[in-house]
Amino acid sequence: MAEHTPMIKQYLAIKAQYKDAFLFFRLGDFYEMFFDDAKLASQELEITLTSRGAGADSERIPMCGVPYHAAEQYIQQLIEKGYKVAICEQTEDPKQAKGVVRREVVKLITPGTVMEGKVLQEKENNFIASVTDFLDDTYGFALTDLTTGENFITILQGSWQDVINEIATTGAKEIIFATNHSEAKIEQLLQQIQVAHSYEDSEQPPEAFLSLCEGLGQRKLIETFGRLCSYLVKTQKRSLDHLQPVIYYTPSEFMRVDLHSKRNLELVETIRDKKKKGSLLWLLDKTVTAMGGRLLKQWLERPLLKQEQIEKRLSMVETLLDQFFEREELREQLKEVYDLERLAGKVAYGNVNARELVQLKRSLQQIPKIVATVQELSNPYGEQLVGDIDLCEDLCRMLQESLKQDPPISIKEGGIIRDGYNEQLDQYRDASRNGKSWLAELEQQERQVTGIKSLKVGYNKVFGYYIEVTRANLGTLPEGRYERKQTLSNAERFITPELKDKEALILEAEEKIEQLEYDLFLGIRENVKQYISKLQYVAKKISELDVLQGFAKVSEENHYTKPEFNEDRQIVIVEGRHPVVEKVLRSGEYVPNDVQMNSEREILLITGPNMAGKSTYMRQLALISILAQVGCYVPAKKVSIPIFDQVFTRIGAADDLASGQSTFMVEMLETKNAISRATQKSLILLDEIGRGTSTYDGMALAQAIIEYIHEEVGAKTLFSTHYHELTILEEELSSLKNVHVSAVEESGKVVFLHKVVDGQADKSYGIYVAELADLPEQVISRAKTILSKLENQSHVKPVQETEQPIQLSLFAEKPEVTKKQSKGSFSEDEKKVIASLKKLDILNITPIEAIQKLNELQKKLK
Ligand code: ADP
Repeated sequence: MAEHTPMIKQYLAIKAQYKDAFLFFRLGDFYEMFFDDAKLASQELEITLTSRGAGADSERIPMCGVPYHAAEQYIQQLIEKGYKVAICEQTEDPKQAKGVVRREVVKLITPGTVMEGKVLQEKENNFIASVTDFLDDTYGFALTDLTTGENFITILQGSWQDVINEIATTGAKEIIFATNHSEAKIEQLLQQIQVAHSYEDSEQPPEAFLSLCEGLGQRKLIETFGRLCSYLVKTQKRSLDHLQPVIYYTPSEFMRVDLHSKRNLELVETIRDKKKKGSLLWLLDKTVTAMGGRLLKQWLERPLLKQEQIEKRLSMVETLLDQFFEREELREQLKEVYDLERLAGKVAYGNVNARELVQLKRSLQQIPKIVATVQELSNPYGEQLVGDIDLCEDLCRMLQESLKQDPPISIKEGGIIRDGYNEQLDQYRDASRNGKSWLAELEQQERQVTGIKSLKVGYNKVFGYYIEVTRANLGTLPEGRYERKQTLSNAERFITPELKDKEALILEAEEKIEQLEYDLFLGIRENVKQYISKLQYVAKKISELDVLQGFAKVSEENHYTKPEFNEDRQIVIVEGRHPVVEKVLRSGEYVPNDVQMNSEREILLITGPNMAGKSTYMRQLALISILAQVGCYVPAKKVSIPIFDQVFTRIGAADDLASGQSTFMVEMLETKNAISRATQKSLILLDEIGRGTSTYDGMALAQAIIEYIHEEVGAKTLFSTHYHELTILEEELSSLKNVHVSAVEESGKVVFLHKVVDGQADKSYGIYVAELADLPEQVISRAKTILSKLENQSHVKPVQETEQPIQLSLFAEKPEVTKKQSKGSFSEDEKKVIASLKKLDILNITPIEAIQKLNELQKKLK
């Protein structure tokens, strides 16, 4: 093997410790990458790939680099793409170095530990998590948001899928495992969620973190948290003073909404393009602070189960709705509050600048006003929220006295500290100011003496202060008055000994000012560190107030109503609406619907044409329940519901394709999940179950599932189906009721009324939907003819206990009678058409292919 240069050897030795990260290797003014890192980085960052010699007889190796001062943006791009970046700096002065300059990794930046930049969403936590598999169906799960300092921990009991659900719920960006963690389980996770993962074996919390996990006690918890903070310490290599004591939470204290249901219900992002816009969170988010935005998302991910807690939130929303002026005042005051949580993180990291501290001061100035406004509301929960807020008045005063109103972002160029804060600084400033006024006087005086009005005193970095006279005026300048220093094309620049003396004084003063201001600022920043935990506490209260005022705002704007809860498992919703669909439709277009469910109506079987509004109706009930349990008003005239422990949904197939599993398999897995976990207190929404397989199978499964829920589970269930035949179950199952979404025909066209009423639908109107989609007239009329033929032959109905097996498929071959019939009714060509129709895998062809196929089949029949 070729012998590498000492520097490349050093590179390889360091790289070996950071195999899964890009190694940014500092070489002078650049961070360089070599070998495969260079190849991949040049593609991902679109930078030029070059090469360099790596030793006397070795081949040239690939290399690419980024200037150190622009590195931030490149690092961010890589982090956004889910990569990790290790920053390797020169840790000794190259002039002093003997041989290769010493280099060390000073920081590892990963998706879960990034502290600034675009990757961080203002209104979203950036969690990093650790998972410990205790191999007894329990898993330790710890979470940290480095930007806000929040720490949470729990023990999850159950299957690995439960852990995946929890990871999805928290939206963690990176997961830390032990090196011996099951690869298959990690694989299963990555199939469902794109998340960075890393390894750490140490389970002992480092010394500095022990106080954070004092109350935890249990070994499992401490080990899990230990893994997480060991990783943080190794990667961050700096102070993490802002981390808050770990909070133990119990997932079972919250309404359980699993990963699929969250996606299906579009709680925080839409299914199709994974954007916040169009989701429930988007609609609800009337928060005015970043902290409030983050808390709202946390709340929505975890609706409450305890009525008392829900009622507290609701009562505050009610008060805020009643007291419009106070609410608007509160909103305005909150708008002035900066992101205190992330700011506390920056203070701990030592990268907060003066401008941000001024924002902190402005935020703190708002706190007493906010407290006063909330007290005026006279709401017990409001009072509890602001009751023990520490106003941090001394911090506010210190910032007020020390920092200028509008300091620059840079903390090294002065202009930060107020006059009067430090005597020494004031003295330097006097010297500098006197010098400057002396210069101004000099300019005036020389203009008068020489009579040159355009004469001016200027400054540049190379020559210092000078007197400039334009070429046109040089003739009038008395010979020998000044000493010539620099010649420009249209002017000459001069100096005088006096000017140089003053210059020395001014420059010295300015240099000292910059240094002193910098030192003073560091002192102030250090001082702020003591307040980190108080600021975090204030932040918590402020975010909660913000979310609650947002609830009041959204409830008022959309005419929501206060929900009530009952313990006799009744659902009474009068004129309910789907909060997001009603928003995207034009005003007045949404048709409100009632929901009535009780012990005689445990399961509603919903039939009706496609596009009539079945899934909207189902989602509407789930969203109203979630909103209510989050503590927000709900879109309806009147609502009384039980508190649901879990919501399960199986709606739509759009999200299945990415996971690589067949649509039908996913459908069955989700259904299994729902019926095996649901309790009497749960809500189940099943949309078109059985659609992904043949009619025979599908209908049999659908019926069996309904029966199982009816007999064994007893959860409130909405079941929509296109198998009209199932409506007969109403006769069999005492607490199942048929409802349908009505449609009427007007002059041969179907009009969807979007109104849900009792009873079964009489038609499926599929052909009318095809008509709406503008299929050729020829296809439509032929389909109508075929339909009426088929309807005359159909004997399909579900199995009732007393009956013999019956024909479920129109084209089933078994029963004798049908065979005879089909012999008589279909020609050979028709049979071929039927056979190819049967084979058609409808779910896996595009609409265009479907039309082509229809056309082809129709031709065969002509
Ligand atoms: P289905 O599940 O019956 O196929 P959807 O629930 O997907 O139908 O609804 C189809 C479309 O009909 C929705 O996108 C919406 O635009 C409209 N819609 C549904 N329910 C209503 C309603 N109650 N009022 C007005 N429009 C509705």
